[in-house]
Amino acid sequence: MLRLVLLLSVCSAAIGCGGGGPPEFTAPPVRVVCTTTIVADVVKHVGKERVAVETLMGPGVDPHRYLPTAGDREQLEGAHLVFFNGLHLEGKMTDTFEKSRRRFRAFAVTRDISERDLRPADTDGGAHDPHVWFDVKLWAKSIDPIRAELAKLDPGGAAFYMTNANDYRQELDKLDAEVRAAAGTLPKERRVLVTGHDAFGYFGRAYGFEVRGLQGVSTASEVGTTDRDRLAEFLGAQRVPAVFTETSVPDEGLKAVLDTTRQKYGHTVRLVGGDDALYSDALGAPTSPGGTYAGMVRHNIKVIVDALSK
Ligand SMILES: [Zn+2]
Repeated sequence: MLRLVLLLSVCSAAIGCGGGGPPEFTAPPVRVVCTTTIVADVVKHVGKERVAVETLMGPGVDPHRYLPTAGDREQLEGAHLVFFNGLHLEGKMTDTFEKSRRRFRAFAVTRDISERDLRPADTDGGAHDPHVWFDVKLWAKSIDPIRAELAKLDPGGAAFYMTNANDYRQELDKLDAEVRAAAGTLPKERRVLVTGHDAFGYFGRAYGFEVRGLQGVSTASEVGTTDRDRLAEFLGAQRVPAVFTETSVPDEGLKAVLDTTRQKYGHTVRLVGGDDALYSDALGAPTSPGGTYAGMVRHNIKVIVDALSK
């Protein structure tokens, strides 16, 4: 009987005998798994050489539609820490995070952003627009949850994480000022940003753009004929010079809208794509301009200002 009691208590300490809990951390590097490349970028800035970061969704992968594989689950379970965006960005992974809560230490990097700073949106069962990284100042709030969780797990690195977090916050402050200055060179009436899905709401709010997306806040939403017609009418009425494709979203839908705009309203809109496609929900390959968060933000604002100033 005593043996049975002992066995049971050992089991509950390990959190569920079958799968076990997250691995114990003994010494750096802290093994971190992130969902998106954008989240991983912050972790790398805060953790530097004390972390080994892996990312489930690679460059150009759409997080709204991403389904976790068996291999991902293994990766998550082997990590000391897991960071995800939250706010239902990873709409199809909600179950993985909620049902396997005890199998890994998973944290949403957006947890410190207060409700009043979030844009309401109905997305995959979530109540808010998850694309907070397009407001650089708001995204800077993802630094501290990451710093705090790293320091809790690895107290020996606490001072190091603090220094890195402060440095990166300053870098983002400068980046925010840079975007604001670039946006300011465009006359107010030209600040109209139209993209494949409605990812740029926070960008618009922060930097003074009117923003339209063909699809809703999630790419998992349906696009109907009415959506297409309405956008074509808007483009025609406003004589919008250019619309933008995104690296993580197919552009067929936008092309169809531009055909309608030309046929019905006699207005030709430029489709900005190829190397100039905007990075929306994923970074680019490590060597591309959008290989880092700061690089992605700089690329986007440059492309947007160039195309809309013509
Ligand atoms: Zn999105």
